[in-house]
Amino acid sequence: MRSIQAETERSWIELNIENLKHNVKILTEAMPPECKLMAVVKAQAYGHGACKISTILNKMEIKAFAVATIEEGIQLRKNGIRGEILILGYTNIKRASDLEKFDLIQTLIDFEYAKALNSQNFAVKAHIKIDTGMHRLGFSCKEVLEVKKVFDMKYLNICGIYTHLCCTDSLMPDDIAFTRKQIDNFYRLIEDLKNGKVNIPKVHIQSSYGLLNYPDLTCNYIRVGIALYGVLSSPDDDTNLKLDLRPVLSLKSRVVSIRQVNKGDSVGYGRDFVAERDSRIAIIPIGYGDGFPRNLSNGNGRILVNGHIVPIAGRICMDQLSIDITDVQGVSTGDIATLIGAEEYDDLSASAVAYRSGSISNELLCRMGARLPVITKSDVI
Ligand SMILES: *Cc1c(COP(=O)(O)O)cnc(C)c1O
Repeated sequence: MRSIQAETERSWIELNIENLKHNVKILTEAMPPECKLMAVVKAQAYGHGACKISTILNKMEIKAFAVATIEEGIQLRKNGIRGEILILGYTNIKRASDLEKFDLIQTLIDFEYAKALNSQNFAVKAHIKIDTGMHRLGFSCKEVLEVKKVFDMKYLNICGIYTHLCCTDSLMPDDIAFTRKQIDNFYRLIEDLKNGKVNIPKVHIQSSYGLLNYPDLTCNYIRVGIALYGVLSSPDDDTNLKLDLRPVLSLKSRVVSIRQVNKGDSVGYGRDFVAERDSRIAIIPIGYGDGFPRNLSNGNGRILVNGHIVPIAGRICMDQLSIDITDVQGVSTGDIATLIGAEEYDDLSASAVAYRSGSISNELLCRMGARLPVITKSDVI
């Protein structure tokens, strides 16, 4: 383990665990009493570090997790995560022995897949996915007979059935009507199964926006991803439930060099930034190689330094970027620069930064972390 001082000498991700705990609490309170939070920790828990986050959640009695791949699931098990781990995506059927060995739950993505997985002769836990209109993965909601057959497959232990909604973040009438239709399609299938004497396993439908905009559904789980990390996907999203979610992640770096440039001098690749006055430029050792989007170049992105928000000057490089600190007094090398997550500045929320880069916070967050150390806030000196 490197020391915290070493971890924070260049650029780092800082986690506020108190905020994570707070989010768990208010999300749980917003859910119907019989419904449990399934923590979605795919893609390194949206860049926060899957093992770290899951370990904390396990201690908070969260016992259901969702990942995208079998390797993500195995990594959690190897780090001692207990409870259910559902793989939301495709797994090659040749991995059936690993599914059994690591006690992972596999999503059945269609009937062919279910038959093939069953034929591997390993006892595998599974959730059946139903396609109610997203047309990505799942059995068609009209395939009642096929779904029924899966419950009788010898090697598959069906412990859940679920669907995924595709426009719950929108409050436009058309999108609400579409969502209601998806929900109706799903429950119609469940009714048909009940009538066919199938014992209905655990049921789940919503993800974060499903909870925020359709909190009245009563299921066994809600698969919460982005909201757990305390941010919305886009800064202007309106939601029916307005929860006091608090951001878990901050992205920080340090000023490593300060230089004077004269009026007319350029900074960086392509000479995109040309000083309109004598200027001071600070160099920050973080770039798109760390996951910070390159299209925040040329003033598109802003960074907090010494209590002031300043523009990015010129193009963001792979490993560093420049900011214009001409208007800020007292900046020294070693000062902390905040790129994402300073709670008192809406402009630096993950959703606002993502929006400026033409994306959503989900993508922005999960792209980070390959090179950045992740530390917890209380460790910072
Ligand atoms: C990623 C994912 C989620 C979590 O979505 P959020 O919007 O981040 O809450 C839920 N369900 C499925 C099937 C997913 O792929």
